[in-house]
Amino acid sequence: MTSNDRKLYFIVNIDSDPDPEDTPRDDTAVLEKYAVVKSIVDDCVDGKGTICVQTSPMYRDRFFAGPFMDFWRAWMADGGDLTLHPEEDLYSTPETRLASGSYYSDIGHMGPIIRSKAAFMADAGLPFAAYKGGYQGVTLDIIKVLAKVGIPIDVTCAPGIDWPEKLAAWGDAPTSAYYMSPNDRARAAEHRGESPVFEIPFGWDGQASDTTRRLLNEHYLVNEFSNYEALCRVWDAIVERGAHSGASQIVGLLCHTYAMQSAKLSGQCRKILTYMREHGGIPVTATEAKAVYDAQR
Ligand SMILES: [Zn+2]
Repeated sequence: MTSNDRKLYFIVNIDSDPDPEDTPRDDTAVLEKYAVVKSIVDDCVDGKGTICVQTSPMYRDRFFAGPFMDFWRAWMADGGDLTLHPEEDLYSTPETRLASGSYYSDIGHMGPIIRSKAAFMADAGLPFAAYKGGYQGVTLDIIKVLAKVGIPIDVTCAPGIDWPEKLAAWGDAPTSAYYMSPNDRARAAEHRGESPVFEIPFGWDGQASDTTRRLLNEHYLVNEFSNYEALCRVWDAIVERGAHSGASQIVGLLCHTYAMQSAKLSGQCRKILTYMREHGGIPVTATEAKAVYDAQR
């Protein structure tokens, strides 16, 4: 690869969970926030957003019906990707809440959910491009199911994060996209045929962060738990890493639809996406990111 091929790619990884406190069951209110993020993605990254479709004990089918299906269809038609996002723990009901542990560790629970939702959306002509766990949690058993159902990409990884109770084990994960080793989700596969699942990590500045709240913070590209200056600093660190490593960088920026009624946070999202583009960033969908990586290897 010549230095001319070395580029900085980013995906906009959008978590579309409804706010658990603010108008959680009001479809119109949720769709208004979705419309805000759609306008940001259209204006700032040419429609290249990768947005989650939540399924959870609380809302197993809500986002797979009615006006939400129309929204996903328009999202894909305008150039975006869809992500399957089971929120099994955070959006559990009082009856289903686990006393300890995580549903993510139970493949007998997760497997049928992933298989049925992937099949439903494929039948609707809206196949999932990617998968995202809640709280950065995913297991190798889940990855195996993704490979089987043809979801080629995972976008759960946050390098530097080890939250055992959330099944988030990314301590030494690569800071740019990689094909995942079948034996260790935080390691790249040794050769191409070894694993079909492509991982796109969140952008990280490489510094240890206080993670007691179990939220990505100002050391990551995450709109709602950071601020504009910190987001710029993280992007600058990624630019520098790309220059030093001599390889293309592919990372994700996380944002949440629930926050999009806040003018401050939606404005900040526009500003950081603009900054990233003005400083070498090329927006791609998750599908395009994988194609770029494949073409460069
Ligand atoms: Zn979520």
